[in-house]
Amino acid sequence: MSRTTTLRSFAAHIDGQSVSAQSGRTYRSIDPFTGEPWAEVPDCDATDVDLAVTAARRALQGEWARYTATRRGKLLHRLGELIARDAAELAELETRDNGKLLREMVGQMAVLPEWFTYFGGLADKVGGSVVPTDKPNFLVYTRSEPVGVVAAITPWNSPLLLLSWKIAPALAAGCTIVVKPSDHTPASTLALARLIDEAGFPPGVVNVITGWGPETGQALTSHPGVDRIAFTGSTEVGRIIARTAADRLTRTSLELGGKSAHIVFPDADIDSVVNGIVGGVFAATGQTCMAGSRVLVHEDVAEAITEKLVERTSRIKLGDPMLPDTEMGPVANQRQFDTVTKHFEYAVEDGATIAYGGRVDPELGGLFVQPTILTDATLEMRAVSQEIFGPVVAITTFSDEADAIEMANGTEFGLAGAVWTNDIRRGHRVAAAIRAGTVWINAYRVVAPQVPFGGFGLSGWGRENGAAAILDYTESKSVWVELSGATRDPFVLG
Ligand code: NAD
Repeated sequence: MSRTTTLRSFAAHIDGQSVSAQSGRTYRSIDPFTGEPWAEVPDCDATDVDLAVTAARRALQGEWARYTATRRGKLLHRLGELIARDAAELAELETRDNGKLLREMVGQMAVLPEWFTYFGGLADKVGGSVVPTDKPNFLVYTRSEPVGVVAAITPWNSPLLLLSWKIAPALAAGCTIVVKPSDHTPASTLALARLIDEAGFPPGVVNVITGWGPETGQALTSHPGVDRIAFTGSTEVGRIIARTAADRLTRTSLELGGKSAHIVFPDADIDSVVNGIVGGVFAATGQTCMAGSRVLVHEDVAEAITEKLVERTSRIKLGDPMLPDTEMGPVANQRQFDTVTKHFEYAVEDGATIAYGGRVDPELGGLFVQPTILTDATLEMRAVSQEIFGPVVAITTFSDEADAIEMANGTEFGLAGAVWTNDIRRGHRVAAAIRAGTVWINAYRVVAPQVPFGGFGLSGWGRENGAAAILDYTESKSVWVELSGATRDPFVLG
């Protein structure tokens, strides 16, 4: 695939300085559309990780500790403004790195400032409070103190969006941060580091290191100077991180994979359902944690839905993600391509019917796969039970509500789901029964800074977004003040 490529260089960011890896090593990021390297970034190792964590710890105890919450909030607002100013450039960097549609990344950059506005506004609202007790001789109050140095590790599919879910509340709470973006998508996070400087955050408050392979992330999560890990990525790596965190009982949040289901009832609006399914699993070439990769459809409308879905899917325009009319770009990298194409084979071996797609795109080749619809799908099939993280949807029919709920919950994941119905009672009843962190009724793939997001089961630990997210970056301290001067019995618990 052709497009002029000039190799661009990016530096790591430690203690307010643009730096190379101490070893001098770099690696190149590949544009999945052209297959060519387009960016060169530092390949940081444990030495760089140590420098970054040390800088973050120093910053935690330096002038940043004396910033009022209001001042931290203002800096977050300023950062949001700078992101809005540079949105087009940041979006392009992400598309070059991960092959997602430029118009999707532009859309993400346009809403990104909302996270900084929201958590900037919360900064001065969580300092602690006086606690009423039944102990008349005591004044008790709590202090919400920053948890400390945060290690933020992000995946390649939405690098800055998922990073904002971490750094906005962490900075609002007064933490300092070391960020390690995915090795496949380092550029936008390194560019953001410059904006963080420009916004006026003191040196060392946010540090960004990049590195090829798992070593950089491993060195970061096992570093004794890290107090809190905020991870988004696969369940497989989430488990490794949880084991590492167990050694030091490092506070950890994990936003992991999913295998989310749409449940479609006969009274639903068919066009909206088809639109929701297409957006849920083919947008971003299916590379979203919340991909609605299973469709459970009532037998009365299964044929109509499948027919319309196949028709719409056959018109999805694959191509250059930079072009405004492209609807699906390539898969983001070779490893992911191998996973998706393996699942095409599994689907056939396990007895699913391929109603559409199921192949590498014959015209575009490279990392382009066809959007794929499987029918006659059952939970035992690998393409139905495992996260593919690609444009593959599996359709299963049901005849009654209880069966549909049982099938939706027949997975160890629990990230998201949707109910499609015009019966208000059924909508709420089924939403309550689905074991997942987010359920949309008659919609799919909508998020906002005010609304908690996270998973049940193998989809992770904790919730990002929502007002409570800022408390996840604090430690609560209770302070008891004796007021009466009376002598107490030292052998009795007060
Ligand atoms: P991944 O788990 O392979 O990598 C995620 C990050 O972890 C990367 O930065 C990677 O370099 C780093 N890493 C890899 N091994 C590590 C180790 N041993 N120690 C520390 N860090 C390590 O995930 P990915 O392929 O980049 O992203 C896809 C996955 O992310 C999918 O499973 C998807 O569902 C999930 N995801 C979840 C959410 C959510 O909010 N729940 C959002 C987006 C993506």
